[in-house]
Amino acid sequence: MEPNEHWGVVGHGWAVRFLRRAVASGGLSHAYLFTGPPGVGKTTLARALAAALLCQAGQGEPACGSCRACRLVAGGTHPDLYILESERVGASLKIEQVRDLQRQLALTPLEGRWKMAILRRFGEATTSAANALLKTLEEPPPYVVLAVLAADADRLLPTIVSRCQRVPLRPLSAALVQRALIGRWGASPRRAELLAHLSGGRLGWAVRARGDEKALKRRARRLDDVDQLLRASVVERFRYAEKLARDPVATQETLDLWTGWWRDVTLVAAGAEATLTNVDRQDELDDHARRFGVTSSAAVVQALRSATDRLGRNANARLALEVLMLDLPRG
Ligand SMILES: [Zn+2]
Repeated sequence: MEPNEHWGVVGHGWAVRFLRRAVASGGLSHAYLFTGPPGVGKTTLARALAAALLCQAGQGEPACGSCRACRLVAGGTHPDLYILESERVGASLKIEQVRDLQRQLALTPLEGRWKMAILRRFGEATTSAANALLKTLEEPPPYVVLAVLAADADRLLPTIVSRCQRVPLRPLSAALVQRALIGRWGASPRRAELLAHLSGGRLGWAVRARGDEKALKRRARRLDDVDQLLRASVVERFRYAEKLARDPVATQETLDLWTGWWRDVTLVAAGAEATLTNVDRQDELDDHARRFGVTSSAAVVQALRSATDRLGRNANARLALEVLMLDLPRG
């Protein structure tokens, strides 16, 4: 990792500048809230902040990338850096995990001036875990910096949001993701183009999908399902919903995929000159656009957003999917 003014982070220039200024001026907040869709770069940016704080090279900013502290941060093993997350995607961060963190944070830093904790997927934390964290947010030890990561601030307790400095991350442009995939991860131009479009600007997603043939196959299958479901009876649709609801990760992934699909269909139907996500399936997009038109496809996008929203609020997954199935057009 070369030291540079972007902290080695691709994109998110505003956020990096904002944090750099805070580090350089000593005006750090004790808590930051990084929001944005999964894979957009929240953890990467939080780690870059950790490196800037913990680097032993003297100035502290930008991090040197080569000292012991920088290497330990990169490897996730620095003794003053804590990275907390639920045991798996779809599970909740538990109160015991937050309490354990608080015991660690009560002790002064082992190696440098700071201790940093990164709390991933905090939108999925239990209410008791969130309430426990409030205590640290209200009276943080002077050497502690917390980075709370969540897809969406709306899913957090307002009392948590109000005590954090907000750092919203937006998806990157497809062109930037494509360049990074080629330049940094050695992807072929053709594959980089497809992944960049599919990623919806989430570089982390694209990097993971790059090494995961199965992810692209899963995508193909879920998109094939769209057309079948449109022709299916309500009974068949409910059977599909029941099966899908058993796997929270697949449910989330499928809803994201379908949202991207129907957004594309809406754009094609409207004749908009916009960049499509599913660039490799133009014929099917055209077909759906002809069959369903702008109004119906926009309504599906809305129904998918509602379903995602309900799931984010821990609604019954099967019920949320069944409502969605009833909202899908037929034909
Ligand atoms: Zn360093």
